[in-house]
Amino acid sequence: DMAPVITIDGPGGSGKGTLTGMLAARLGWNLLDSGALYRVLAFAAGNHGVDLADEQTLTSLAAHLDVRFLAEEGQEQRIILEGEDVTRGIRTETAGAGASRVASLPAVRQALLGRQQAFREAPGLVADGRDMGTVVFPDAQLKIFLTASPEIRAERRYRQLLEKGETASLAGLLDEINARDERDMNRSIAPLRPAEDAILIDSSHMSIEKVLEAVQTEARKRN
Ligand code: C5P
Repeated sequence: DMAPVITIDGPGGSGKGTLTGMLAARLGWNLLDSGALYRVLAFAAGNHGVDLADEQTLTSLAAHLDVRFLAEEGQEQRIILEGEDVTRGIRTETAGAGASRVASLPAVRQALLGRQQAFREAPGLVADGRDMGTVVFPDAQLKIFLTASPEIRAERRYRQLLEKGETASLAGLLDEINARDERDMNRSIAPLRPAEDAILIDSSHMSIEKVLEAVQTEARKRN
């Protein structure tokens, strides 16, 4: 009698995060932003002066990570690391690149596995990441793999950053996206790839509402 899970995997900027938030709100289910966990770990490493290649220390940091995800009805979840609100702090490109580095370490991923699976609680979970359908919740009821072209993803990220009042270069973002894709797809552990039973959706030319509709249609088929 495990709670049902819908997994949303795909590269950054595909609209995963937005889709996951909307879907969880609509279903009244719990939400797991697994990328935030890797970002928080990279952030904590920065706080404690831990080298991002030091697998042993990073693994122990991951195992003891004092992080809380505060969900509030109809609001963005707040992320608290060691008592500090890092909700915004972990969204920088630096934290994203750091996350991608710590995420390539097998022992680190193993240390974060149980913590991710613990989000599976009634009435259900929508889980967002890279390996939700392949590694963390292989028995999920519905697996979505959401993509979009690198150019479109760079544009979306660019607009997000501007909205937050941050500055960015579109060309720089495209370079970073390509580098991060490359690293995420080619790492030996839990590489970014669709689960065999995943449904592929290319959101390049779809509104987020259209994507949500498509996913809900699939979810209803599986009830
Ligand atoms: O999704 P987000 O951009 O926040 O993820 C940051 C990084 O964390 C990704 O580039 C990826 O390397 C890593 N990640 C991962 N597995 C996940 C989620 C994120 O390896 N399930």
